[in-house]
Amino acid sequence: MPSPQRYPENWYEIALSIKEQARWRCSKCKMQCIHPGEDTSGLTKSERMVKTLTVHHANYTPEDNRIENLIPLCSACHLGYHTRKKSNVTPGQLSLFEEIK
Ligand SMILES: [Zn+2]
Ligand SMILES: [Zn+2]
Repeated sequence: MPSPQRYPENWYEIALSIKEQARWRCSKCKMQCIHPGEDTSGLTKSERMVKTLTVHHANYTPEDNRIENLIPLCSACHLGYHTRKKSNVTPGQLSLFEEIK
C-alpha cells in the first residue's frame, strides 16, 4: 500500500492536469465525475465519493509520475484496480480508499 509520503509535493497539480485533460471522465467506465466548482449539494456523501475522479499509477509506482503512467479513474474503477478479486465495491470500502488514494 503506497504511503502519502511517496507522492511528490506537486502531486495535486499533476493529478489536476491529468483530470482536466480527461475532462473529468473516468478512462475506464467513462463516467462523468465531479469537477471543481460543480454544485454537489444534491448528492449524498457516497454519491460524491463514487463520482470523485482519482489518478491511478499504471505500474503501481507513485514515484513514477510520467503522463503515460497516470490514468484518470473514478473511485470504483480505481479501487477495482487495487482489489482485483472483488467486483462489488461498497461505499465503506470507498471511504477507506479515500484515505489511501
Ligand atoms: Zn470508472
Ligand atoms: Zn491506483
